[in-house]
Amino acid sequence: MDRVTKTCLSLALTGILTLGAMAGAQAADLLWYGQAAVRITSPAGTVIVIDPFILKNPKTPEALKDLSKVGKVDLILVTHGHFDHTADVVELAKITGAKVGMNADMGSTYAALGWLTQDQMIRFNKSGPIKPMDGITVTMVHAEHSSSLTETDPTTKKKTVHPGGEPVGYIVELEDGFKIYHAGDTGVFSDMRLIDEIYKPDLALLPIGGHFTMDPAHAAYAVRELLKTPTVMPIHYGTFGLLKGTPAQFKAALGDAKTEVVVMQPGEERKF
Ligand SMILES: [Zn+2]
Repeated sequence: MDRVTKTCLSLALTGILTLGAMAGAQAADLLWYGQAAVRITSPAGTVIVIDPFILKNPKTPEALKDLSKVGKVDLILVTHGHFDHTADVVELAKITGAKVGMNADMGSTYAALGWLTQDQMIRFNKSGPIKPMDGITVTMVHAEHSSSLTETDPTTKKKTVHPGGEPVGYIVELEDGFKIYHAGDTGVFSDMRLIDEIYKPDLALLPIGGHFTMDPAHAAYAVRELLKTPTVMPIHYGTFGLLKGTPAQFKAALGDAKTEVVVMQPGEERKF
């Protein structure tokens, strides 16, 4: 049974879709803006944006550098506080009215600074799955990184650093059971094995740029030995000069591993 048919039957069984609507049903749709910024549209039309970094992202095509063009957004998820993951969080939340999920401590910082209201935020933490909307389950998982928030005064350009809690990744399970692991920024860590054992993600978005995160060799080790994900999409490379890892190096390091590597271009959109 192909994925779209499985999606149709699953959605029909859960009552989200009538069998009569099956002909028009979709799989998950993923748009990559470059770096770690993605927009996921679920089979039932729920839109989740992870780590919005669009307007100042050197890899985002100019035609997409307009937050109103992101369209409807139901949920924004933030993996950690660094600029290239949070730059457009507040503005996108204001424009769309989306709920914003992040680690509880970073949420406290956002609230204390008046960047977001408590009402608009979902403050949560690792392991406790949440169901922010019908049919969607989100689990926060470990990441090996850092997470401070730097605020720049628009007039004086003086920088102030605020606490950003712990960095995290996310397992996002869609209505049809399809699971996406967005690793955020992370080094390789042995508990990625738990992510395989407990969640069995269908698709993993993994950083390969190196310097601040896994490089291609570490990411390939993570896939081969720990995650064993059937489909992997490399992210967080090439955006800035220090992020030197390439998809070609990642594929070479994977060798004969039974994993499909999906290399997208910034601005590209695909069905999974
Ligand atoms: Zn980072």
